[in-house]
Amino acid sequence: VSFRGIVGHERPIGLLRAALGSGRLPHALLFYGPEAVGKATIARRVAMALLCDQGGDEGCGTCRSCGRIERGLHPDVLHVGRLPAKGPANPSEPAEAAGPEPAGANLRKEILVGQIRELAEHASFGPREGRRRVFLLDPADRMNAAAQNALLKTLEEPPSSTTFILLATRPHLLLPTIRSRSVGIRFGLVPIPKLEDELRGRGCSREEARARAVLSEGRPGRALTLDVPAEIERMEAAVRVLERLGGRPDSAEELAELASEMAGSSEEDLANNLELFAALLRKAARADLGAPAPGAEALEPRLANIGRRLGAGRAYAMVRAIERLEGDLRFNLNRTLVAEAILAGIAGGPDPLR
Ligand SMILES: [Zn+2]
Repeated sequence: VSFRGIVGHERPIGLLRAALGSGRLPHALLFYGPEAVGKATIARRVAMALLCDQGGDEGCGTCRSCGRIERGLHPDVLHVGRLPAKGPANPSEPAEAAGPEPAGANLRKEILVGQIRELAEHASFGPREGRRRVFLLDPADRMNAAAQNALLKTLEEPPSSTTFILLATRPHLLLPTIRSRSVGIRFGLVPIPKLEDELRGRGCSREEARARAVLSEGRPGRALTLDVPAEIERMEAAVRVLERLGGRPDSAEELAELASEMAGSSEEDLANNLELFAALLRKAARADLGAPAPGAEALEPRLANIGRRLGAGRAYAMVRAIERLEGDLRFNLNRTLVAEAILAGIAGGPDPLR
């Protein structure tokens, strides 16, 4: 497979290829950029390139090592993510061959210092069977301060034959010293037409490819998995909320009810909803709404109305407020209060975020 089959990201892949080809891959890499664009996939491909049984500059994708990396089972590729919310903070089971964070699970808000100490210990042993050990820290921006300081010590005196790949959507939450000890590689959104072509190549109809590319906003990971009708429904529900708030909520009860809906039942729900509202407000604030997703055309004039009523300045101010709160979700914020603050801000009451 090597880096083939990956949509977009020509520049990061070019940099990685050059580094791998010359045998000068930095010992610590920081992959940063939006969620679901392919950072984790490319990080795994780097691990394959380093550990492939065939020994070439890029992973073959078919040997035993590459296969185990793909499935998260290689003993020299360790993944450090958030632990399940329920369960011991320091599992007696070592993080051996730990796969990525389980999707949809209720996870702790942070990566804990104990996990990083364990990583440091593992790193000091050297590879088990391969030529190197690769540590994938994903999401690295969820390390708390103590965990980051512990990692810094390891990055300052990196054990030989060890590669660290940090993945982050919000790199500014990492200590400047961690950022300066790693080589940053930025990943952007994939252009919609490119993603559309890729989806058509995988057998999607023109309509379906267009809808998936637009609704995912250029995130291949999401484009492949999203449920198109459900996504349009979700957008419609959010547009309805924005319309109701534009007319000011009838009562505090209504606001509370909308907020509890927005808060959902997990941090992930709230994060997804915040992201959706920010995307809609951004669209509403722009006079140019871009080409709509097939099936969501009717929402465009309604969004334009919302934009006119809110005004671009206020809409962008709300987008910034949402972005700030998204960064704060790792702290123990009350989900419903976060949602209420955002909705009240959109409704135009006294700004609760100041
Ligand atoms: Zn291989």
